[in-house]
Amino acid sequence: LHDRDGKIWMDGELVNWRDAKVHVLTHTLHYGCGAFEGVRAYATERGTAIFRLQEHTERLFNSAKILRMQIPFTQEEVNEAQRAVIRANGLQSGYIRPLTWIGSEKLGVSPKGNRVHLMVAAWAWGAYLGEEGMKRGIRVKTSSYTRHHVNITMTQAKTVSNYTNSILANMEATDDGYDEALLLDPSGFVSEGAGENLFIVKGGVIYTPDLSAGALNGITRNTVLHIAKDLGLDVVQKRITRDEVYIADEAFFTGTAAEVTPIRELDRVQIGAGMRGPITEKIQSAFFDIVNGRNPKYAHWLTLV
Ligand code: PMP
Repeated sequence: LHDRDGKIWMDGELVNWRDAKVHVLTHTLHYGCGAFEGVRAYATERGTAIFRLQEHTERLFNSAKILRMQIPFTQEEVNEAQRAVIRANGLQSGYIRPLTWIGSEKLGVSPKGNRVHLMVAAWAWGAYLGEEGMKRGIRVKTSSYTRHHVNITMTQAKTVSNYTNSILANMEATDDGYDEALLLDPSGFVSEGAGENLFIVKGGVIYTPDLSAGALNGITRNTVLHIAKDLGLDVVQKRITRDEVYIADEAFFTGTAAEVTPIRELDRVQIGAGMRGPITEKIQSAFFDIVNGRNPKYAHWLTLV
């Protein structure tokens, strides 16, 4: 990924992709205090547009606030940076990765006195869990790793260090031949996927873990709440157990990278008919209509680049 042509926005300017480097004594590289976003741009009829740009930028600033980091740019500048990298790399659609980190002036655990940096990169990225998974559903395993407790790491921040837990869970699940991991909170209730929020469908009602289970307040999760309302479907946010997932009619993951990905199996237990369910398909299709600019009601969620 590092050795290619293109531009990356770094601390206020577009630099050559290969020159976008940091020092090995970068504080965040040692202690993991940093925050990032994952954003997508879609090729709509009106042109390339970033989906829910302002909400992603706001979450980045909130993550930084939780980490007591002061981003040295305004939200407007960070919005502009994201549009600029899509344009500069000639992308019609793609994934955008803003990241804020602490510099290399000093290396004590206390980051005080270090500069805070920000970069934004963008590249083409298709279906995160595979095209096949989008149609047929993926196979998921309950992780042996527990998701973060709400007072150990900060679960409403999309922090760099939170992802060690995601990586361990994802590697364990994929080494065992599954597509993704599902993590439980410290009390054993369902929290979220390694990089996705979870939804289940039972008797025509949609359920998703409430955020006290340590799940990230996903922007795709929020989008699905809107879609469900439009479809006249009730969504209940509550504590969910793993066996409720086994006996659900349908299940799916949501995320900027994962979009809306059906789940056909958890721990080798088939969910519903073992394929993408009818409500999941409706939500998935409504989601792609919105992000691709085919639903005028949500035109305000798309920012042309
Ligand atoms: N949970 C985790 C752990 C994630 O990494 C993500 C992806 N950002 C999500 C949930 C979904 O969030 P969003 O829909 O905002 O991408």
